[in-house]
Amino acid sequence: MPSPADIPRDSNSASRANGAELVRFDKVTKRFGDVTVLDQLDFSVDTGKHVTLIGPSGSGKTTILRLLMTLLTPDEGTIKVDGDYLNHEERNGTLAKAGEKHVREVRKKIGMVFQQFNLFPNMKVLRNVTEAPVHVLGMSKDEADQRARELIELVGLSEQLDKYPSQLSGGQQQRVAIARALAMRPQVLLLDEVTSALDPELVAGVLDVLRDIAHTTDITMLVVTHEMSFARDISDAVLMFDKGKIVESGPPDKMFSEPEHERTREFLSTVL
Ligand code: ADP
Repeated sequence: MPSPADIPRDSNSASRANGAELVRFDKVTKRFGDVTVLDQLDFSVDTGKHVTLIGPSGSGKTTILRLLMTLLTPDEGTIKVDGDYLNHEERNGTLAKAGEKHVREVRKKIGMVFQQFNLFPNMKVLRNVTEAPVHVLGMSKDEADQRARELIELVGLSEQLDKYPSQLSGGQQQRVAIARALAMRPQVLLLDEVTSALDPELVAGVLDVLRDIAHTTDITMLVVTHEMSFARDISDAVLMFDKGKIVESGPPDKMFSEPEHERTREFLSTVL
């Protein structure tokens, strides 16, 4: 079994100092109609860190991940990934709306695992993991194949290479989705409530794989989860959201043991 440290990383990762800012939201506002879902939001995530977003349903957590995936665009403010604006380009000293090519390039630095796996149903496990590296990154089929096998082994599914998603359990499908996201060598991995669609007995296996990845690789993670013991295990920082704002943030021990804000205490009492 390959060491999790063998997870492919971006070829530039050696040149990025650990601790440098990888993601930055600067006064980001997002509205749906009259509803302000994110309100002048500022936060950043440093390279190699694992940041968990917690808070009640509807507080804006998934919207943050969807903005990073460019499935949504901010109404105000800017998002930077690895020093580049995600939705903007600097032209003649001013910020203009970015062209599609720019967005596509910056987007490549981000990988996401969704609640609902979203595997390609008509492709076997191996092809699910090789498809994007070959067609989006232009990786050779042989290299993509080798990487995919390593990652599939890492998530414990080497026996299932020739299965279709429908022949796998939900937990196994989600582990394929994790391998597929990592195959694109993202600099930051977004996890959006990745166990919430799973039967309870399948949750632990997926969280174990993610714990392993968090503890043994230097990939940056931005995680939305209701699994508080998982959040405590893997997080460097926890951000508590309410109504589109961060009400409190800090290291997990402090956030879970001595939350300062009433809203955090209330929220934790419902999930711990
Ligand atoms: P969380 O992840 O914290 O549960 P979300 O970011 O999913 O919260 O949602 C924040 C708010 O935005 C919710 O009130 C939700 O109903 C609303 N919302 C999310 N996506 C859309 C959309 N595409 N259109 C309209 N409202 C939306």
